[in-house]
Amino acid sequence: MKRILNFIDGQFRPPCSGRYLPNLNPATGQVIAEIPESGPEDIDAAVAAASRAFESWRRTPAEERSRLLIRVAELIEENFDELAQLESEDSGKPIALARRIDVPRAIHNFRFFATAILHAETPCHMTDDRALNYTIRQPLGVAGLISPWNLPLYLLTWKIAPAIAAGNCCVAKPSELTPLTADRLAELTLEAGIPPGVVNIVHGPGGSAGRALTSHPNVPLISFTGGTKTGADVMARAGPLFKKVSLELGGKNPNIVFADADLEQAVATSIQSSFANQGEICLCGSRLFIEKTIYEEFVDRFLGATKKLRIGDPQDASTDVGALVSEPHLRKVEGYVELAREEGGTILVGGKRPENLPERVQDGYFLEPTVIAGLDCQRRVMQEEIFGPVVTVTPFDSPEDAIAYANSTRYGLSASVWTQDLQKAHRVAAAIETGTVWVNTWLLRDLRVPFGGMKESGVGREGGFESLDFFTEAKNVCVKL
Ligand code: NAP
Repeated sequence: MKRILNFIDGQFRPPCSGRYLPNLNPATGQVIAEIPESGPEDIDAAVAAASRAFESWRRTPAEERSRLLIRVAELIEENFDELAQLESEDSGKPIALARRIDVPRAIHNFRFFATAILHAETPCHMTDDRALNYTIRQPLGVAGLISPWNLPLYLLTWKIAPAIAAGNCCVAKPSELTPLTADRLAELTLEAGIPPGVVNIVHGPGGSAGRALTSHPNVPLISFTGGTKTGADVMARAGPLFKKVSLELGGKNPNIVFADADLEQAVATSIQSSFANQGEICLCGSRLFIEKTIYEEFVDRFLGATKKLRIGDPQDASTDVGALVSEPHLRKVEGYVELAREEGGTILVGGKRPENLPERVQDGYFLEPTVIAGLDCQRRVMQEEIFGPVVTVTPFDSPEDAIAYANSTRYGLSASVWTQDLQKAHRVAAAIETGTVWVNTWLLRDLRVPFGGMKESGVGREGGFESLDFFTEAKNVCVKL
């Protein structure tokens, strides 16, 4: 069994506690690795290493930083199969999905920010004929990066790549549930020639290692992706120290289908937006709103497509739906299915653990893709993030109703709108309170766009130059003429 170590100052080191936690494969329930149970002392050591490395990394020319980041991208590409395999084993996601989304995106993250820094500019202007103002952007120092388990390598690299491209050094804390690809990435950064201390990875529980990072006085910047409740704790600790904070939090995303939509496309993509990665994507459209005149036809087709999804061994290339990340998470999602019944909802399909799973994965944490009807928007199942293969279907009468339903939660991360009427699409998109609105698509990600949430889905934007802005501090220099 693999024993994972922390990656600090270019070396793999045991945790100061000497203790380790089991890491399970959620498809089999078997322990596959041990991870360090790190705490404040490990974070201190990582922050000290990152602070030392910052002195030379901040002065490393952008072209050289770019070259090193591109080398990391190449190494991820060279180790594509292994990384996809590790991601699938660690998180329960189908290997086909890890190959299609997670690993390609990790490569893209490094390439994108490696080249973005070669094109970044800062403004310069005259104050009449009295002064010249120009802006310089400088890295802050040690960036604290905290990421979740649902897209482990994808989201970790979404933070590490812009942080170090911009000239910061970093201490990353991946989710304790999915440490494998982070550990492999550490090795690849070493192989790529990233200097010791520029990237540090400390494994361990959020309550100890994570909190030590968010409250560390020498970490001026925190980029956090995870749940809204945890985000509040991060903010509470980082706030008194006046850290720069970016929070990418939970969602309860609406997926609105108008009667004039291309139904075939809408059904096929809604199956993805409901059940991809077992519904464990913050951007999943977990509330489907369908115009009343096509409600029955849409739901019919949607249920038919749901029943065709293949649930099974994530290692099987034909599997569509794998295992949920852990037993407690499975229980939580099942709890919401039970709550839906209590709230008067009808389970149209799914709602239980699948039968006839292959023997290898019979003890895994699987749940059938589940469709629930008959709940009004104020019910808890319609308000709270479930983060599993569970979607609700609700009819609506008019665009105004659809907008009101969409905006009826405390979340505001993303939405999809399906219509062939572009006037309506623009009007509805402008009225929906989310950071992203997709029209006639879902999860089409261009890394240049601002990404983030409104309301309780987050604070700040990352993506493209927004990320480089976040990971640098703007300074005005005013020269009197
Ligand atoms: P989580 O429980 O909030 O954990 C996220 C990360 O924070 C993990 O590394 C966790 O550590 C750590 N953590 C936990 N408590 C902490 C604390 N008090 N201080 C500092 N760090 C702490 O979220 P999750 O269950 O892993 O992920 C699912 C959530 O992430 C969902 O709500 C989903 O919507 C959201 N998400 C949002 C986006 C987005 O872009 N908006 C993207 C993906 C996921 P351990 O787990 O190791 O203990």
